[in-house]
Amino acid sequence: METQVHAEDRIAQAIERTKDPALARELLREVRRLAEKFVEVHGRPASFMEVCGSHTHALAEFGIKYALRDVLKLVSGPGCPVCVTDQQEIDAMIALADGEDRIITTFGDMLRVPGSRGSLMKAKAEGRADVRVVYSPSDAVEIAQKNPDKQVIFLGVGFETTIPVLAAAVYEAETLGLENFSMWMSGKLVEPIMRYLLDTGETRIDAFILPGHVATILGRKGFLWLAEEYGVNGVISGFEMNEILSSLYILLDLVLKGKAEIVNNYPYVVREEGNPGAWKLAEKYFMPVDMAWREIDVIPKSGMDFRPEYAHFDAKKRFPVTVGKPKPTACRCGEVIRGLIEPEECPLFGKACTPAHPIGPCMVSSEGACAAHYKYLRQ
Ligand code: SF4
Repeated sequence: METQVHAEDRIAQAIERTKDPALARELLREVRRLAEKFVEVHGRPASFMEVCGSHTHALAEFGIKYALRDVLKLVSGPGCPVCVTDQQEIDAMIALADGEDRIITTFGDMLRVPGSRGSLMKAKAEGRADVRVVYSPSDAVEIAQKNPDKQVIFLGVGFETTIPVLAAAVYEAETLGLENFSMWMSGKLVEPIMRYLLDTGETRIDAFILPGHVATILGRKGFLWLAEEYGVNGVISGFEMNEILSSLYILLDLVLKGKAEIVNNYPYVVREEGNPGAWKLAEKYFMPVDMAWREIDVIPKSGMDFRPEYAHFDAKKRFPVTVGKPKPTACRCGEVIRGLIEPEECPLFGKACTPAHPIGPCMVSSEGACAAHYKYLRQ
């Protein structure tokens, strides 16, 4: 009961914090009305998947997911780059840190992700490895410049939004002629994983809340295949309360009308064509490769890795590590990122696995569904 009051307070407070609370209240009423209409017509709630960790976080933080739980199913998908990284690859990144004369640089979330044998944080705490958190890959290039006697390796995980930033760091290192900078590249592409989810049909998805940040690179054009080939709706959404509520309204309106469209509801940030210039830079250094996703098969051409001509920047080639297949654990992140279960359905949620003692990446990452549920939706 206490959690319920708390969650209801959350949406009331989030509405008051918007620039236009009256609009937020009206939008919430209208979203509920259309969601109820969908239940009336189809005998079940509509099911919308978000494929962006920032949306996962916002839907929980604003209380939208909780407020609409009886009429609309909001499912978290594979939108957190750390959460979708294959366990064996995480193990390899951690093993990489053990080498001498090297500095591992990474975004903060990677530090705490548990591998089969400890984490980067543990390796750092035990003095076994020099691991440094950076805010941008470009900071890692700077570290390489300042430490010419060390090899500096950046762990590059991320989707289309991050991949051009990773390319920019490689460009910087190349321009500076640095021979002691390399990257463990594990870029992920949104379209192949969305296609995988739709093709397997294991999760019911009536429409997608499309990732606003990724769409700045791909544009609305980059998602047209969804409506054209699968007949599924998508709305490119921003991250503010009213942006998300209006996106839900648009999706419900479309699914009720039986239309299949891709709507850009973030037009002041996302262009029709996206940002081809940024992607061109990404394609200079990286190319699509088959890639394993956490507890999912290898998905053809679903990742981005170095082109052979840039092997001198490729940490996988320069510092090969061999790790065995990870032992299966009770962590169910693989099902969480495919929208098959809610985080609470994992038996470890809130017991053995908490943000202070995470068992899986979904509880570590600020964009992870388990972390968002723990912080905002825990019963
Ligand atoms: S609660 Fe923890 S162990 Fe369970 S799926 Fe989430 S991260 Fe994995």
